[in-house]
Amino acid sequence: MKVAACLCTGCSAQIWRTVRNPATGEALGVWPRPNSAYVRLGLGTDHLAVGIGFCQRCVPTPGAIIEIDGLLEGTGLPVITVEWAGERYQAWYEDAWGRAFRAWALDYLQYPQPEVDALMRQWDADRREAVLGISVGVGSQASEGEDG
Ligand SMILES: [Zn+2]
Repeated sequence: MKVAACLCTGCSAQIWRTVRNPATGEALGVWPRPNSAYVRLGLGTDHLAVGIGFCQRCVPTPGAIIEIDGLLEGTGLPVITVEWAGERYQAWYEDAWGRAFRAWALDYLQYPQPEVDALMRQWDADRREAVLGISVGVGSQASEGEDG
């Protein structure tokens, strides 16, 4: 399995919301989708690989042995823990982060106010789902299928 920014390690599905930097065209991961999960892998020492992301469909269970490209290849690594987005990235769903993101989207990305408002609605729906488990469908331009 291959690790890539914003994508599921199992199937390469998008597991982070992304926005497009209008100046560079670069896709930027802005917050994790609420139904994504992040595993810690034992490396056979005191060290752990943390934050290996998966979609809900692919997430391995604790105790499973998985292989990651470029990480002790040829040696299966045990899944130690699984954290859902609302646990691992809790701070990304807090009010202070939302205010900072809004300012960044307006000032750095130079997104117009209606687009920023739509992003903030998506962020708020995602955080409710991630933190409270309440799923609220919100259409916005935060990515559904952009490459990350
Ligand atoms: Zn997947």
